[in-house]
Amino acid sequence: MYNLLCPRMILNSLHDLECHKLKELGIEGIIFDLDNTIIPWDQQQMSPEIIERVNTLLKEGFKICLLSNNMEKRVKEIADIFNIPFVSRAYKPAKTGFRHAIAAMELSEEKVAVIGDQLFTDILGGNRIGLVTIWVRPLSSQEFIGTKITRRLERLAVRVLESKGLINKSAIIKNDNY
Ligand SMILES: [Mg+2]
Repeated sequence: MYNLLCPRMILNSLHDLECHKLKELGIEGIIFDLDNTIIPWDQQQMSPEIIERVNTLLKEGFKICLLSNNMEKRVKEIADIFNIPFVSRAYKPAKTGFRHAIAAMELSEEKVAVIGDQLFTDILGGNRIGLVTIWVRPLSSQEFIGTKITRRLERLAVRVLESKGLINKSAIIKNDNY
C-alpha cells in the first residue's frame, strides 16, 4: 500500500523538471494535474513562467494532457491555451481518468509520467497504473477545504514513507506544509 503512495521523483518546482531525464526514462507524454500544479487553486491565471515551462515541454516534443478533478469549464480554459487535451471531473485516484488521458495522447502507459501536487490523488492514481509519478510542491497554500483535510493524511504518509526509507529524506519538500 505504501509503495503506491511513493512518488518516483520529488520536485520543488516545475522548473526543476529535467527534459533529458524524462527522455532517458522513455517518457513521451506527461499528464499534468491542474490546481496547485500549474495554476494556484484560488486563481484564474497561470504565471508567465509556468506558461513558458509548459510551452517548452511541448516544443521538446512531449505530449501533454491535463487531468483534473475540477469542473470542465476551468480545465478546458487552461487546456485551450496550449491546445492540448484534457480530462475533467476525473475522480482521481480512480484509474479511468488516467486511462482517458493516456488514450488522448495516443501513448502506452510506460511512456507516460504524471505530475501533481497531491499524494492521494495524482501519485496514488499514477502508481496504480504504473506511470512514472512526479510529486511537486503545491503552488499555493490556499486549498479546497477537502484538500486541507487530506494534506494532514499526506503529512502522515510522508512520515511513514520516510521511516520505511521509501522516500529520500533530502528530497522531501521543505516548506510550511511539510
Ligand atoms: Mg492539485
